Amino acid sequence: MFTRILIANRGEIAVRIIRAARELGIETVAVHSTADATSRHVKLADRAICIGGPPAAESYLNIPHIISAAEVANVDAIHPGYGFLAENAHFAEVCRSCNIEFIGPSVESMALLGDKIKCKETAAKAKVPMFPGSKGAVEDEAEAVKVARRIGYPVIIKAAAGGGGRGMRIAHNDLGLRSAIHSARAEAEAAFGNGSVFIEKFLESARHVEVQILGDQHGNVVHLFERDCSMQRRHQKLIEEAPCPVLDEQTRHDLCASAVRLAKAAGYFSAGTVEFLLDKKKDFYLLEVNTRVQVEHPVTEAITGVDIVKTQIRVAAGEKLGFTQKDIHLAGHAMEVRINAEDPERRFAPCPGTIEHFDIPGGPGVRLDTHCYGGYRVPPNYDSMIAKLIVHQPTRKLVIATMRRALAEFTIAPIKTTIPLHQQLMTNGDFIKADVDIHFVERLLAERAEG
Ligand code: ADP
Repeated sequence: MFTRILIANRGEIAVRIIRAARELGIETVAVHSTADATSRHVKLADRAICIGGPPAAESYLNIPHIISAAEVANVDAIHPGYGFLAENAHFAEVCRSCNIEFIGPSVESMALLGDKIKCKETAAKAKVPMFPGSKGAVEDEAEAVKVARRIGYPVIIKAAAGGGGRGMRIAHNDLGLRSAIHSARAEAEAAFGNGSVFIEKFLESARHVEVQILGDQHGNVVHLFERDCSMQRRHQKLIEEAPCPVLDEQTRHDLCASAVRLAKAAGYFSAGTVEFLLDKKKDFYLLEVNTRVQVEHPVTEAITGVDIVKTQIRVAAGEKLGFTQKDIHLAGHAMEVRINAEDPERRFAPCPGTIEHFDIPGGPGVRLDTHCYGGYRVPPNYDSMIAKLIVHQPTRKLVIATMRRALAEFTIAPIKTTIPLHQQLMTNGDFIKADVDIHFVERLLAERAEG
């Protein structure tokens, strides 16, 4: 097992990783920007090293600075968390060439699954259901129009190297497609340095359902069931829950088995997530694979009792999973709400600033993952998520009741947060019935803005 690891991240996930490492008896080294000198991850780690200025390019994305810190602190491994360098195969390669273990999958499976076109080729071989669409990249307008007419409008244009919803366009007819293909390419080229785009059928109404995968370096792969992340705004998840409230046993089995087949076909180890869209007919289609720990991993930990972050660390050190699929059981229901420093009344404008009051919820079934505390200043430089509130109870109904009372206990002031929005959603009739799709939140917000 490792003696010392470095956490190449910030915020709540850095805190989460430090906690896992400490329980495993591993020393921790935090890195931070000058804007994060007072953050909780810096205080909690055994050692902290400042690696640069506030812009991520100078610090959390600066590979030479992170590697220097790792060498100075003499660590055995680096945990990248999520975001920043977590899905950067080049970073993983640099770590390993410096004899520092990268806590994640192999460079090869990151490169394979990180490219959506190559991912689809692998998925096709593994017989994973996919949207009708182009075979690989589309080269020109004429080819795009041919594909779109074959599969039928509406279609979505996506970047092979895409992420965070960038480079995506929806087209409803030939005219729209011709212009969308050019703008999607230009955006993908600018954002990712790779202008390859492909086309697939656009589903008007669907749920986002994803499968948690865990594998070791000895060829063992298991799934930890699924999460439903349909509550989104601008392709960003707001609420996640496990299990998916509308899945029947057969569909659950098929979905999870597809994810395991894809992971095995890609030679996958460590934690990963296979994302799908699920339609009303209970057909599901592959979206993409995330080769890292997800923000929403705690809901899966709650319903399975498996510590995903500790498992990532153990697997990176060469240990076997130590359990098989038969040992994984689904217990109860869990839900996570993401609390962002944003003003839901002002189009979700970011609200950085000092938190004077931070009164946290607790009690049975409640978990809070956060890097904030009373007196903490939320810097304006990074993602606005400041806390994740997770509830686990025997049933979804009880989860919602506990979530309501936990949200009512939670005071973050004077900065604005998304707590009031979550309070409204927890009393929404359609959400309570689990009758939602990926456009539900945006429709609700649009109706409110009009009314
Ligand atoms: P990114 O990697 O940029 O996040 P994804 O492929 O994961 O892109 O898609 C992000 C979101 O875009 C999905 O959660 C879904 O809301 C929407 N989306 C993507 N593909 C489709 C599709 N074929 N039909 C309908 N919505 C889609």
